[in-house]
Amino acid sequence: MSRRPQARIDLAALLHNLQQVRAAAPNSKVLAVLKANAYGHGLLKVAEQLKDASAFGVARIDEALMLRAGGIVKPIVLLEGFFHADELPQIVASNLQVVVHHPSQVEALVAAQLDSPIHVWLKMDSGMHRLGLLPQEFLQAYQQLCQSPNVIQPMRLMTHFASADELTVDSTQQQIDLFMKTVEGLAGEHCLANSAGTLAWAQSHGHWIRPGLALYGVSPMERGRAEQHQLKAVMSFSSSVIAVRDIKQGDKVGYGGTWTAPTDTRLAIVAVGYGDGYPRAAGNGCPVLIKGKRYPIVGRVSMDMTTVDIGKADVQIGDEVLLWGADLPVEEIAEQAQTIPYELLCNITSRVEFRYM
Ligand code: PLP
Repeated sequence: MSRRPQARIDLAALLHNLQQVRAAAPNSKVLAVLKANAYGHGLLKVAEQLKDASAFGVARIDEALMLRAGGIVKPIVLLEGFFHADELPQIVASNLQVVVHHPSQVEALVAAQLDSPIHVWLKMDSGMHRLGLLPQEFLQAYQQLCQSPNVIQPMRLMTHFASADELTVDSTQQQIDLFMKTVEGLAGEHCLANSAGTLAWAQSHGHWIRPGLALYGVSPMERGRAEQHQLKAVMSFSSSVIAVRDIKQGDKVGYGGTWTAPTDTRLAIVAVGYGDGYPRAAGNGCPVLIKGKRYPIVGRVSMDMTTVDIGKADVQIGDEVLLWGADLPVEEIAEQAQTIPYELLCNITSRVEFRYM
């Protein structure tokens, strides 16, 4: 019996979620976001499964090269673009597409001597103030790149939302309006919507959508749950019980003794900790599922082990413990840990055994 925590990846759920985002934006092509090891799910396996996506988006060139080395021939977009003209020959050789988000990249691309032209996604900063050309810089950059033999025409025009997960703020509509006003009359397909835009802001769909989290079966919305969007959790993160022990009322549990047993009770010690990517901040009260029933974590999560109060339940060494998955939403665990599901998924470490089914 393996003591190792497992991440089971449900590839059928991944396909289901792709269909759901397609159904939400039926007239848009899908640029599936696979950065950070496909949000912790395994870059190549996910790419191989998402054959129906029109393109893949990654953050960095090393991720794109891993996809190419794994035999993926689909268009790949570098969402952070390139940083130095030195990278352009590799980008051409590997047939990668780049996001251009800064005037310095425009200059470098125009000045480069390339063997063949590349696809450019010209990015506007419509309000997030992370990457993107300001509206007043956009037209000049567009015109410079239109005249460059290094750029395949027409370019794609894009922007990124800061708060599309919040339905009650005005900023998403303002970002859409500013983008549409700035690109009015320019040739090129539009790409605005991340998962939240795809699911909640139909007016942002355009020619392309750019979902990440929703593909993995997780709600991108504030306090949302996958089932509200008919999404299915792709990852089930589980481990097993390695010890069961009785403790007395008043006994303190774990590092720092942060939990004191209110009555005599029984603990299950689970083989998972922050060394595997389970969040230390989850701690006291965060639920796990054993044989379909919820039990609370008590005390601090340690590097390799986590303690669960099972009361009088009949739990045995070797029993499986679900940490998150279809029956225990990662969204709920993220709320308990005061973080976001993205972080939990990306933080799974290499100690965890991956199984694809
Ligand atoms: N587009 C860009 C530029 C991103 O940085 C991300 C992820 O952060 C996405 C799309 C996908 O976002 P989400 O996972 O919320 O769908």
